[in-house]
Amino acid sequence: MAWYPGAVKMELQPESDSQPAIKPTQFILHSIVGPWSPQRTYEYWRDSTNLESHFGLGYDGHLGQYIGTQTRADATGAANRRADGTGAVSLESASNLQASDPWTDEQVETIIRLGVWLHETHDIPLRICRTASDPGYGYHRLHDAWNPDDHSCPGPARVRQFHNVIFPGIVARANGAPSSEELDMDDQQVFNAVWMKDAAPAPSRSGTKKTNPTWSPVSFLREIYDLVATVNDNVKALAKRVDAIEKKG
Ligand SMILES: [Zn+2]
Repeated sequence: MAWYPGAVKMELQPESDSQPAIKPTQFILHSIVGPWSPQRTYEYWRDSTNLESHFGLGYDGHLGQYIGTQTRADATGAANRRADGTGAVSLESASNLQASDPWTDEQVETIIRLGVWLHETHDIPLRICRTASDPGYGYHRLHDAWNPDDHSCPGPARVRQFHNVIFPGIVARANGAPSSEELDMDDQQVFNAVWMKDAAPAPSRSGTKKTNPTWSPVSFLREIYDLVATVNDNVKALAKRVDAIEKKG
């Protein structure tokens, strides 16, 4: 079984030893409909129900892990463990009592990091699950088979965040993009990274397109400025000639 180094281990027994192994192929997000810390969520799983998730995430971004990721946890209906032995890693997260609030910045960052770790550790592919059994990333209400009780979990604001911020963030980070903390750049470095980056496709009428297929944004600006100045000079010269012709006539 695998324990995520970024989480506090709060092993849940007897489930951790008694539940069958899975090969984790999915990562599915939930809201627990309570403003709970990882410890409070652990106590709920231990004392009040025989359900449980692998992870519990507080508002402040702190994470607890209750079950190893290669053991079944019971949070996501048919995705917990399928007949072929594959199953979903589940994360419950603190929310308000209506599950209507967005994840905090700290929660978003923790989810992205865990998502990258699951990709690197268990080879979960970087895509949104296309069907209930398709390997990838998702949230509780994405597929009916995961959600037999028809919950709105994790709530509409968080579904939007999943599509706009979290999943793209996992993909970008897994492909080597730096985190915001690692992006410690001064103004000159930001300018160079954006304006000097030689990556934009060359203009369609560029004479050197074959040998110089990409330009930096700064090259575009200079080229356009020079071209406009030349056109301006030509128009002025043309106006003078028109004046002269008029005077002669
Ligand atoms: Zn849920």
